[in-house]
Amino acid sequence: MRKKLIAGNWKMYTTAATAKALAEAVARGVTDNAVTVAVCPPFPWLGLVADAVKGSQVAVGAQNCHYAAEGAYTGEVSPQMLLDAGCKYVIVGHSERRHGLGEPDRFLNRKVKAAAAAGLKVIFCVGELLAEREAGETEEVLWFQLAAGLNGLSPEAVSKLVIAYEPVWAIGTGKVATPAQAQAVHAFIRKQFAVHYGEAAAQALPIAYGGSVKPDNAAEILRQPDVDGALVGGASLKADSFLGIVRAAV
Ligand code: PEP
Repeated sequence: MRKKLIAGNWKMYTTAATAKALAEAVARGVTDNAVTVAVCPPFPWLGLVADAVKGSQVAVGAQNCHYAAEGAYTGEVSPQMLLDAGCKYVIVGHSERRHGLGEPDRFLNRKVKAAAAAGLKVIFCVGELLAEREAGETEEVLWFQLAAGLNGLSPEAVSKLVIAYEPVWAIGTGKVATPAQAQAVHAFIRKQFAVHYGEAAAQALPIAYGGSVKPDNAAEILRQPDVDGALVGGASLKADSFLGIVRAAV
């Protein structure tokens, strides 16, 4: 049985005050460990959010990292810095960075390796554009993103991995993949992962869905056999809606 993970991606939202209040409300609302819960605030709030959830069941994640341990990389943050700030998770390859900022696959591959080697759990995002889905290229796109982004991982890194399937056309649009669409893609990802890293690793791999998940559509998606959680954007910015999704995962 893979335990479900619900992770909130706060993107570039919240102030120091609202981040603290949101983190405290989420921590209060998660009263057991039936589901793994993480919140991923903007970089400047990592420390204060880590303090706010200290002693609770809620983990903290970052939304990005660099692959270098340190160096002359203005504006970047290393995996070790994230660990020192209290992070357990880091998101790598979110579409807003892949497509919005043009981060290439080989760069993401270095980030995955560096973050996992430092001891972070990596939420590695993959997903097709609407035009790619309509052209029937979804599997080809995902195959490439997985092969390039996860090339050459150590067994240790594989064990720290979560894949987030986030169809780009569903992120922040209100359009959610149908449960059947999500299940089909998740099963494909698991099959591809087995080719690279073996059946046992593929069966242990958590694969979360992301794309307009809300409390009222979460349960049906999360019920699919290969859907092991959700990466939640918009609905993670309000404690009530985020906790509603956490409850739907139980
Ligand atoms: C995301 O940012 O990863 C995401 C899935 O956003 P939303 O839930 O708003 O579609």
